[in-house]
Amino acid sequence: MSYQVLARKWRPRNFKEMAGQSHVLKTLINALDSNRLHHAYLFTGTRGVGKTTIARILARCLNCDKGITSEPCGECGSCTEINEGRFLDLIEVDAASRTKVEDTRELLDNVQYAPSRGRFKVYLIDEVHMLSTHSFNALLKTLEEPPPHVKFLLATTDPQKLPVTVLSRCLQFNLKNISPEKLVEHTSYILEQEKIDFEEGALWLLGRAAQGSVRDCLTLLDQAIGFCDGKVTTASVSELLGNIDRSVIVQLTDALIAQDAAQVLKLVAEAAEHSPDFVLILQELLSWLHRMAIVQVVPDGIDNSQGDRQQIQKHAASLNAETLQLYYQIALKGREDMPYALDPRSGLEMTLLRMLAFTPAGIPKMPTKRLSASQPGGNSSVSTEKKKKQVVERAVSAEPAAITPAELTYSTPATLTGAVHQSTNSAISLVDLPKPDDNTQSLTSTLLIDSGSPSPIALADLKPAMWITLFNQLSLTGVARTIAGNCVLHDVSGMQLVLLLQDKQAAIFNDEHRKRIEAVMRTYFGIAVELQIKIGTLNSESPAGFRLRKESERMQRAVKLFSEDVFVQELVQRFDGEIQYDSITPLTVQDWV
Ligand SMILES: [Zn+2]
Repeated sequence: MSYQVLARKWRPRNFKEMAGQSHVLKTLINALDSNRLHHAYLFTGTRGVGKTTIARILARCLNCDKGITSEPCGECGSCTEINEGRFLDLIEVDAASRTKVEDTRELLDNVQYAPSRGRFKVYLIDEVHMLSTHSFNALLKTLEEPPPHVKFLLATTDPQKLPVTVLSRCLQFNLKNISPEKLVEHTSYILEQEKIDFEEGALWLLGRAAQGSVRDCLTLLDQAIGFCDGKVTTASVSELLGNIDRSVIVQLTDALIAQDAAQVLKLVAEAAEHSPDFVLILQELLSWLHRMAIVQVVPDGIDNSQGDRQQIQKHAASLNAETLQLYYQIALKGREDMPYALDPRSGLEMTLLRMLAFTPAGIPKMPTKRLSASQPGGNSSVSTEKKKKQVVERAVSAEPAAITPAELTYSTPATLTGAVHQSTNSAISLVDLPKPDDNTQSLTSTLLIDSGSPSPIALADLKPAMWITLFNQLSLTGVARTIAGNCVLHDVSGMQLVLLLQDKQAAIFNDEHRKRIEAVMRTYFGIAVELQIKIGTLNSESPAGFRLRKESERMQRAVKLFSEDVFVQELVQRFDGEIQYDSITPLTVQDWV
């Protein structure tokens, strides 16, 4: 049984069968239906997006025995001959192999003669940019005064190399890369017709790998069918492509969000069975975290071209912006350190465990809660004690000699790695690992507080009176900062914030500033808050007002301290001096507060 490659078998025979390029097809269909035909068309675009396919369909539209049409019958003599590549009046030239001027002359010598069978003589010149200058000149003469029975269909991946004189005589169509979505749609249709089982995830992998080319996508699909045994599965396609099965990344992120170290290590162990590229897993995770961060700030910020928007949105909603940034940073550093790891697998494991070890306990809003966690005898300590006890009990009941409770609780991630490999067959489960509110965590949190870093404010807790505190935590710069500094928080309801801007400052305000402040707030809260700025008279103190007042108070205090200083008074007395009060400045001027 002969096997015809999919790209050839499923080459579209009319515009309806084309995947993508609807913008081009619409124009062509309109032109054909209203019989407004140009004599030269130029199709541009990267490889495999359908340039020559469209040109061949167009040749059929022009020459179908049933008349010029946007829907050639596909059955008449002309249609069949074109389909089989033996239609005398369709002259296909690959310019890459016929660059010489003699070739072009020879080709164009016959232009003047009427078509032998069809309505039009159609010259399809592929990779037209490869023609020599002389060839272009020869072509140009014909393009300037083409006989009415001739149509030129030119295709190129590199239109910049065409002389302007040629470009200006062609109707140009830019073909786009086909989106992975379209490719998945197309390949799933073909597989259904071919009655081959498949998993949709596999098609997304192929769709992404094809980088916009239908031809490449179908070639890869051919390989996948040959590679898989009867069913095109995600696992086998990712193996074929040397890709990472995206579901691994999704599950890893799930486990990170759930703070489940055991699950994280289990997933890495499972992935290891397919001997994957661990560096690639980390890269994919980075890319995933990056897209999550975008969604947190702009919910519609990513398209669904990879078929995973919903999943990313779900993850983005489950992790606060601060932790997400931390994970990204740790992953980035982990990738950098990968060459120094014992082996790529342990490098990945350490990076993932580091994320869990440094995760702040929930959204850190309430400093009191953190402080109580570090207090001896506090609630958290009790629960940690309890956990340790559970570890002891389970470890003892399961396999007392294997791992001591102390090792489990305090061991380094490297030991944990060993432990989980061991635990695959043993009864000891790493579920008993201390969760983020363990000792290490409390220590990290305490350190954070001791260093005086302000606690971020959660949107739900935000009150107008907290505006000055919030303002000082927003990373605003320039005019946007000046404007926000002269505002008070007028109202918060749900995700909507209203600032009131002092009317004196209204002259420098425009909507760009509002957008900038809004963007900074979105990053800060990790939620797409909507900001409105009204102008009016302030009824409470703005950050700028607060700063002025504080500066003035500091100044008064400095003047007072200076004048009352015993040494200064003695100097004044002894030398009959005079204090120049306006030369006094406080030692440190804090910014805004
Ligand atoms: Zn026909």
